[in-house]
Amino acid sequence: MTQKKKPALSTQIFIALLLAIGAGIALTGNPDFATNYIKPFGTIFLNLIKWIVCPLVFFSIMAGVVSMRDIRKVGAIGGKTVVYYLCTTAFAVAIGLFFANIFKGTFPVLSTTDLKYEPSATSVNFMDTLVNIFPSNFVKPFVDANMLQIIVASLLIGFALIMVSEKFDNIDFQAVEIMNEICMKVMEMILRLSPVGVFCLLCPVVAVNGPSVLGSLLKVLLVAYLCYIIHAVVIYSASVSVLGGMSPLTFFKGMMPAIIMAFSSASSVGTLPLNLECTEKLGADREVASFVLPLGATINMDGTAIYQGVCSVFIASCFGISLTFPQMLTIVLTATLASIGTAGVPGAGMVMLAMVLQSVGLPVEGIALVAGVDRIFDMGRTVVNITGDASCAIVVSNSERRKKA
Ligand code: ASP
Repeated sequence: MTQKKKPALSTQIFIALLLAIGAGIALTGNPDFATNYIKPFGTIFLNLIKWIVCPLVFFSIMAGVVSMRDIRKVGAIGGKTVVYYLCTTAFAVAIGLFFANIFKGTFPVLSTTDLKYEPSATSVNFMDTLVNIFPSNFVKPFVDANMLQIIVASLLIGFALIMVSEKFDNIDFQAVEIMNEICMKVMEMILRLSPVGVFCLLCPVVAVNGPSVLGSLLKVLLVAYLCYIIHAVVIYSASVSVLGGMSPLTFFKGMMPAIIMAFSSASSVGTLPLNLECTEKLGADREVASFVLPLGATINMDGTAIYQGVCSVFIASCFGISLTFPQMLTIVLTATLASIGTAGVPGAGMVMLAMVLQSVGLPVEGIALVAGVDRIFDMGRTVVNITGDASCAIVVSNSERRKKA
């Protein structure tokens, strides 16, 4: 008797997405059930991912660095990656500002007297953000899951390993590679649960944010989603086809499982393992992907930058303020830098929006206007964030291959 073949993981994830939307709509009258009994299973899934992601990023970046065996090569790849990330992010904010300005006539001017937003204790000051990149304790970055600090630590130790190997005549780096493989294996095991995770994460979001909540915010959500789509379709299609030598259709098709995961989890870091898998299947070099993607999941946030551009214009118009051109340039700059400091976890972009608003003197309380539907913004911006990282892995892999040829 032939055994029935299980559908591919990507198909299972897609089915889970459709089921979650259906079940979420059915439960809009009773969101408590979804929140109390379905969401916890999504939380378990995310907790497992959060548990493994710190060692995964640490060993993956270190393995990426040592596999290049040459600090100059790491510098060259790192340089290309950072330039790509900064340019695409600046484009993203500009697209957000441009379209939000076109549609700003349709945004409401609100009576804003009852707005209350308590800025979180998280620092949004630029200099503090800069200082916080560097760890002051060896284990604390892991305890706090502070990705930027983990990246700094893994780069320093990776560089040191290369230098030490030169001194001691080629020690081999098997231990790092084994640790990396172990983390990947654990991740693979957790990822088998993604269809259940996707269902349990998405269903409560749909149930809680039923159609009525969207009401007046529908326009700003639509503008943000329009920009997400334009940025992905225009910028990433152009870069993967011109610089990466790949058809955009192949790229987006191959990225589908990671895109669905990003949409459901609203976490770039949580999507990292699936993103690694998808980009490698698409033909990105492992040594490049394992360096570029963890870095991108932490410092490259094009979707978040779009959201910040759109929301700045939206909040300004709600308060009856019109942004000047220099103010918009300031937003491009701060949102690009803010995206470096934004953690790849749900809701982080909204905290950094405070920094962007402050930079041009807009009232931070305006965040209260968009906070209620932040999750819906977040799902879309995370998709753009991870797709941008993947496009960079394809582009850099291709340029490295051409250099070798
Ligand atoms: N949730 C986003 C991410 O993980 C960050 C954000 O809130 O904008 O990429």
